[in-house]
Amino acid sequence: MSDTFYGSDFDALESFDPEIAGVLLSELGRLRGGLQLIASENMSSPAVLTALGSTLSNKYAEGYPGRRYYGGCAEVDKAENLAIERCKALFGADHANVQPHSGASANQAVYGAFLQPGDTLLAMSLPHGGHLTHGSKVSFSGKWFNAVHYGVDKDTEDIDYEQVERLAKEHRPKVILAGGSAIPRLIDFAFFRRVADEIGAIFWVDAAHFIGLVAGQAIPSPVPYADVVSFTTHKVLRGPRSGAIVCTEAHRAAIDKAVFPMMQGGPQMHSIAAKAVNFKECATAEYQAYAAQVIANAAALAKGLGDHGIRPTTGGTDTHLSLHDLQPVLVTGVDAEARCDAAGITLNKNAIPFDPQKPNIASGIRVGTACVTTQGMGIAEMQVVADLIATAVTKGDADPGHRVSTEVRGQVSDLVRRFPAYPR
Ligand SMILES: *Cc1c(COP(=O)(O)O)cnc(C)c1O
Repeated sequence: MSDTFYGSDFDALESFDPEIAGVLLSELGRLRGGLQLIASENMSSPAVLTALGSTLSNKYAEGYPGRRYYGGCAEVDKAENLAIERCKALFGADHANVQPHSGASANQAVYGAFLQPGDTLLAMSLPHGGHLTHGSKVSFSGKWFNAVHYGVDKDTEDIDYEQVERLAKEHRPKVILAGGSAIPRLIDFAFFRRVADEIGAIFWVDAAHFIGLVAGQAIPSPVPYADVVSFTTHKVLRGPRSGAIVCTEAHRAAIDKAVFPMMQGGPQMHSIAAKAVNFKECATAEYQAYAAQVIANAAALAKGLGDHGIRPTTGGTDTHLSLHDLQPVLVTGVDAEARCDAAGITLNKNAIPFDPQKPNIASGIRVGTACVTTQGMGIAEMQVVADLIATAVTKGDADPGHRVSTEVRGQVSDLVRRFPAYPR
């Protein structure tokens, strides 16, 4: 153990548990060896990972800084105060709660703060790009609340704003929710604010996917418009796997009580420290350049795939992700995912709006550029990536031994060798 021990020691793990140490190494090898295009993933910095692997994981700190149920919290209080102050400054928010364990936990707390069981919520439907926690029948949110869903317009494939307004006036929801996990376009927050005000509803934005682009000042922020904004910290934002909530002063007490003690127990102080590190990273010029590049790369990738007949829904993207309709190339989402996987390209099948296929087959794929941009790739590389995906999808096979898969896999290796993940 060196003098600089802070809680993490790979050699100790390797000698005690070579099986798990092996998983850590082979996962790093997987990250380094292929193309990571899952739109909800990123590669957080060694600084963030260091805070995560620290002794702060040991500390019980139920409550909030200065008001804990346990002794010995002076040090973790410093970490949480830094995370709160940095988060508020980054987003220009009145209040930040940095304790949610994940995006779903953050959303649970928002429900707890504003809704009673049986109350009505208006949110985007899952098959049109929403999220399970937005009132899906298989989620607590759909079991305990009356969720009414809006979708996208059949022609534009973007949010059907007229439908939002009509459903809001018809159902008078207590909360209107904007955001989702497969929305390639910017959301008109001012429109939602106006509709919410007209019916006296709370306006909630689930910014899990795009909050990193907001942090990097690359797209407009929902914070000036929404009563409450929940988000994950591990997607484009590039922090630890976790969640957070920002809200107006009026809702501070309701949100804090809903996170703890209503929904959670002890906060994960190692993760909160890692969030503080991440918020500091996001305030740099370097991160702002990153966020802008993520969007430029996503636009280039969407166009490149479109040129191969893999049609981007809505005609493209304004964000880090695009959703593609595979029907023109006569391949299903599930087959495309398997063929890409065999070629060293990780992406996911995804339902497209008005998808004729079942969700486990799907007619689309979703791609995002957060990881490849972290690795330093630019627009020129996105053209290459589009070509590789198109070859794998249209000529490939789910068998990694197949000639095309092997050929594409070789080209993927050449590319990622020039832009390594976690360079040594
Ligand atoms: C990813 C995501 C979540 C859930 O986050 P977890 O950390 O996986 O619980 C919630 N809402 C949206 C819109 C998301 O994209």
